[in-house]
Amino acid sequence: MPAKISFMGKWSDSSPLYGYSRTDIKLLKSEKGLDKISRTLSRYDFNICFDRHRDYRNNLFHGIEDTTRYQGFVDCDKINIVYTNNVGTERVPLTAWVLMHRLSHSLVMGRHYRQYFDGFVKKTKDIIASYNIRQEYYTALGNEVKYLFYQIGKMRSCRQRNLVTPYEFFHEGFAQYIITGNFEFKPCPQSFKYYRGGIFNNGYAYSKEFEHTQYLVDDLENYLISIYQDMIECCFGSINGL
Ligand SMILES: [Zn+2]
Repeated sequence: MPAKISFMGKWSDSSPLYGYSRTDIKLLKSEKGLDKISRTLSRYDFNICFDRHRDYRNNLFHGIEDTTRYQGFVDCDKINIVYTNNVGTERVPLTAWVLMHRLSHSLVMGRHYRQYFDGFVKKTKDIIASYNIRQEYYTALGNEVKYLFYQIGKMRSCRQRNLVTPYEFFHEGFAQYIITGNFEFKPCPQSFKYYRGGIFNNGYAYSKEFEHTQYLVDDLENYLISIYQDMIECCFGSINGL
């Protein structure tokens, strides 16, 4: 079902922006713009509210107990999200994708999901630490983690090589999964097969280097799918947003 979208706060033309850009406001006031967001977010039952108010901008919500303002808005059978601004690391217009990317940020800022994010960082570092991603591959990017994600990520930000920071990949993956229902990596590139040598943290030296790289990458992929699914399930009936 297409997402249900509602508004709270001050949306008249003379109101201050309160953390939204003029482009965002124009989009949210256009039937076409709203329709596109609504139709893109249709895999789950979304209930989305855009609030534009001085006193509520920059609030973070993780659970209905955080607020009385939105009590009437919450629908127990839906994924309830409140947006109170569009101020993120990325200066980007409000598309359905960006909305889901920002939901992921919001969830990770809550205590429960922080561990998930930390687990993701650790698994990523294990891949990097274990395999010799030769420096010439990533010098231009200045970062081997970005290089890794540009090699295995399928989403546009990876194809176009414009992750703002390497670990933004987590939120891009969440957006992809919640919108499309799919999340998978590209096969590991051959360049990952050069084993850095020595012995692994767990004391086991691998002889089939490339298979093991693929194993670690598959493990990261499975891990992300399972935590994205968990994050989505926990959104139902609660209130989330920022
Ligand atoms: Zn982000």
